[in-house]
Amino acid sequence: GTVYTRPGQPGSLVTLKSRYDNFIGGEWVAPSTGDYGEDLAPATGQPFAEYARSGVADIDKAVAAANKAFPAWARTSTTERAAVLNRIADRIEIHLEEIAVLEAWENGKPVRETLGADIPLAVDHFRYFAAAIRTQEGNIKKLTDQLVSYHFYEPLGAVAQIIPWNFPILMAAWKLAPALAAGDTVVLKPASATPVSILYVMDLIQDLLPAGVVNVVNGAGAKLGKALVEHSGISKVAFTGSTATGRQIMQYAIKNIIPSTMELGGKSPNVFFEDVAREKDGYYRKAVEGFVLFAFNKGEVCSCPSRALLQRPLMSGFLDDAIDRVKRIKVGDPLDTTTEMGPQNSTEQIKKISGYLALGPQEGATVLAGGERAEMPGDLAGGYFVQPTVMVAENDMRVCQEEIFGPVLTVVPFDTYDQAISIANDTEYGLGSAVWSRDEHLTFEASQDIHAGRVWVNTYHAYPAGAAFGGYKASGYGRETDQSALHNYQQVKNVLVNHVNEPL
Ligand code: NAD
Repeated sequence: GTVYTRPGQPGSLVTLKSRYDNFIGGEWVAPSTGDYGEDLAPATGQPFAEYARSGVADIDKAVAAANKAFPAWARTSTTERAAVLNRIADRIEIHLEEIAVLEAWENGKPVRETLGADIPLAVDHFRYFAAAIRTQEGNIKKLTDQLVSYHFYEPLGAVAQIIPWNFPILMAAWKLAPALAAGDTVVLKPASATPVSILYVMDLIQDLLPAGVVNVVNGAGAKLGKALVEHSGISKVAFTGSTATGRQIMQYAIKNIIPSTMELGGKSPNVFFEDVAREKDGYYRKAVEGFVLFAFNKGEVCSCPSRALLQRPLMSGFLDDAIDRVKRIKVGDPLDTTTEMGPQNSTEQIKKISGYLALGPQEGATVLAGGERAEMPGDLAGGYFVQPTVMVAENDMRVCQEEIFGPVLTVVPFDTYDQAISIANDTEYGLGSAVWSRDEHLTFEASQDIHAGRVWVNTYHAYPAGAAFGGYKASGYGRETDQSALHNYQQVKNVLVNHVNEPL
């Protein structure tokens, strides 16, 4: 393995500015407040860059810039916009390694994930929407002999995009690509815990976009988010984050009656049927890895498979093998390519997760692996590390119902198919889910019975462009990552033409 040099240290692939201003109207603009915050590395708890803690005046500037840029951008041909998206993809791809290193350092996720998943997926996302906008078609209907109905998709205007810290680049790509493809301009508000990665990318791609088409403003979510979403210059809000914040943003969106899309939290079931263990073959080993994926991105994933439902015979044998594997998860420096799990994102996260680690046993759950913070050597001792944790629990316990957003898995046994489905659906959320069985009839039936926007069958945590992603129930509404997401950023214009010589 390799250990990358840390951003901010001599020899790093990443060339950091000491200070990251906002990116507004194609320029780097200091915050009106004059105030900057420290961006902390989760692996050490030490600052490595500064970001703008903006005020409402900066939101006003960004919205003005986005509106100024809109008419010209909206008029570009789809060929031209697709070309811009493809250039952005190429540019990110050329700088993939350095972006991956920075994101791993800023977020805490292991660099093997950012190199292998986050950044390549972001690149592909821009290419996908370049293709999607070129192939999107309106339709024409002849309603009577003389009456013809034309449907055109028009961009909405300047849109607000508010994203979380758990996939700083990918969440930005999921939002920017369809909005830009559709011909909208954007004001993006990153999460305060990961303000720099996306600005680093803006620095790399700024020459590819007309001024004002993408604007990025950092700062406190509650203050800026409200000002942004309630701004009369904003035509739509796309939000990814917690269900609690989503509820608030929907209320802000009421003010000017703007459409919203909401990608919110989850408590996703990962359901394993008995025949998984019929043989100890490649399939079996893959299923064990599927169980362990609750630790992917240290569990800080909206679709984290945080509840494993095991058919009773799997509670020994399969579960023992899975626990063995969990105990071998390599926790450590996110910049070490052999690390499988890095630190949690923040001290707030540590506090929240530690609360649930204590709560589980109090509620009667039995801890099979982990259960505590992880001790680390050297300056990683100041980092936000937690042991991957598995506990056997009952589905009505709080540890099974509330989103922990950490590497904490609850295991719930079941006997029959009907029980599996009813436990899987017994949550307020409906985002991710998975079914593991060698019986394709069974997996198909389960995919129909589970109430979730995404059902993985014999896999997990795959997020290819071209597969719609989004929630049922309290996990939100609207879909991203497939061509239907263009509609989030468009309105339909209907032109109804009376084809007669003598008008009615
Ligand atoms: P969060 O809701 O705290 O913050 C998300 C964003 O909203 C941040 O940019 C934040 O600054 C901003 N914000 C906070 N309060 C606001 C307010 N009152 N008004 C406007 N904006 C406000 O969420 P988080 O902690 O950054 O992210 C974790 C959550 O995101 C989890 O619940 C996770 O499940 C969810 N998530 C969902 C998806 C999905 O696709 N469904 C993907 C990733 C994360």
